[in-house]
Amino acid sequence: MNGEYLPWNDCKLHIRTQVVMMGGSVFEGIRAYWNAEHNELYAFKVREHLLRLRDSARAMRMKEFSIDVLGEVCLELLRKNEFREDVHIVPTAYLGAGEGFFALTKTRDEGVFVSAIRRPGGKWLKDGKHVRVSSWRRISDACMPPRIKASGNYINSRLALLDAWQDGYDDAIILNERGTIAESAGSCLMMVRNGTLFTPPVTAGILESITRTTLMELFREKMGMTVIEREIDRSELHYAEEVFLCGSGMEVVPVVSVDRIAVGSGKIGAITESIQKIYFDIARASDTSHAEWRVPVYSKELVS
Ligand code: PMP
Repeated sequence: MNGEYLPWNDCKLHIRTQVVMMGGSVFEGIRAYWNAEHNELYAFKVREHLLRLRDSARAMRMKEFSIDVLGEVCLELLRKNEFREDVHIVPTAYLGAGEGFFALTKTRDEGVFVSAIRRPGGKWLKDGKHVRVSSWRRISDACMPPRIKASGNYINSRLALLDAWQDGYDDAIILNERGTIAESAGSCLMMVRNGTLFTPPVTAGILESITRTTLMELFREKMGMTVIEREIDRSELHYAEEVFLCGSGMEVVPVVSVDRIAVGSGKIGAITESIQKIYFDIARASDTSHAEWRVPVYSKELVS
């Protein structure tokens, strides 16, 4: 945190900082995967995440930081904790106390911190999620650009999630201001219709997901399939053979029903199952192609 490695309980910020009061921060969620056979922890697409963090910070007119330094800090934090399991890393750039400790005054007090926790995946991977289309709309580029990964944006996700959970669903799909599919509370969406893959474009009110880009590339390369970026209607989810969610935290999770209408057979679909395996094999380095996407934490420094 701001240049120091601190014990968990000493990672403190004052309650009158703008990050606490107003959600004034931008952040990333990065995964690192343990490969027991290689005796190595692989951090996935660190540089891509830090570039997006830099873009988020820029859009928020926050201070520049060095991607190389922050990348090395992320890796060093993993080494210091001696993680030998799957991990979730969250680098964050935040607004500290404003002039006079007010919520919307100028602040020169800005900082960066990174935290990492154990995070085994797997809860939804096989069984999939039952989702609903939320009555909440996605924030839009006209007010809170979803492309900026700002903490405050997640209030929108939370509103959609809380009422989905309340009504017994696992997650919420959120429509954009035009009423077409944007994304879920914390991941992007892909759909298979008549054997073709579709995903909403980056102008549909989504976070420009790194996993989405990764899967588009892997579909092309490993399965000879092109993902078409186009607007998706809500009712298309009721017609689709397969729907799945993707994100660094989410990974690749099948959606087995939408609005209580089964997707396809109501079980994980063949295309989802294939891309899920391809993704994990690459991320965990069981498939050693795309070495440029992984940093072997214990044997190498960040490749710039
Ligand atoms: N959309 C939202 C709202 C998210 O929070 C996330 C997770 N970061 C994603 C999409 C997926 O993005 P990524 O693949 O870069 O993790």
